[in-house]
Amino acid sequence: MKVIGLTGGIGSGKSTIRKWFESQGVPCFDSDEIGKQLLNSELKSKIKEEFGATLYNDKGELDRAQLANLVFNEPEELKKLNKIVHPAVANAFEVFKSNHKSAMFVIKEAAILFESGAYKSCDEIILVCAPTEMRIERVMKRDQTTKEAIETRMQYQWLDSEKKVLSDYVIQNEYLEAAINKARQVFKTLNRSN
Ligand code: ADP
Repeated sequence: MKVIGLTGGIGSGKSTIRKWFESQGVPCFDSDEIGKQLLNSELKSKIKEEFGATLYNDKGELDRAQLANLVFNEPEELKKLNKIVHPAVANAFEVFKSNHKSAMFVIKEAAILFESGAYKSCDEIILVCAPTEMRIERVMKRDQTTKEAIETRMQYQWLDSEKKVLSDYVIQNEYLEAAINKARQVFKTLNRSN
């Protein structure tokens, strides 16, 4: 089974493209969503130990804004968080693969596929790109967040030009229809080469 990495900067539209692949029956693993789920389950005690119990509210749910504020303003704290989350997500991905043994390929979506080094264990990589200003506008609308908060997050992500060199397929996503057409072409190629 091949592992196809799917990545792109925040707001590029990678989740939108992942959902299209899902609609075609491809098993897809959403690393960021799984990471979020783990933070609210088995990683809770480790996170409390490292960052303090006040990160969780009375209902025991993680205050994501508080955590983001902490780690995205402090590189050392981000490293600590990644050290806890990344191995747990990697484990969950192994379980996912064993649950889809008969698939020709699976897609692993991750915002920081390159930055984390996880791209090295992918057979091929799909990169979704869109201009920075467009990405900021999309995320402001999607998350009701500020331009500054998005730009802070972008500082931790590689430039598209750096990612393109290491990618096998690039999906340009200014216009959704064109992006889906390109995704369809990639899907055909993946089916042929697997
Ligand atoms: P990412 O997962 O890369 O952060 P999303 O797929 O969540 O990005 O897309 C960000 C937002 O932009 C979402 O609200 C999505 O519906 C919207 N979006 C994605 N692609 C397009 C597009 N081509 N045109 C307009 N809006 C888009």
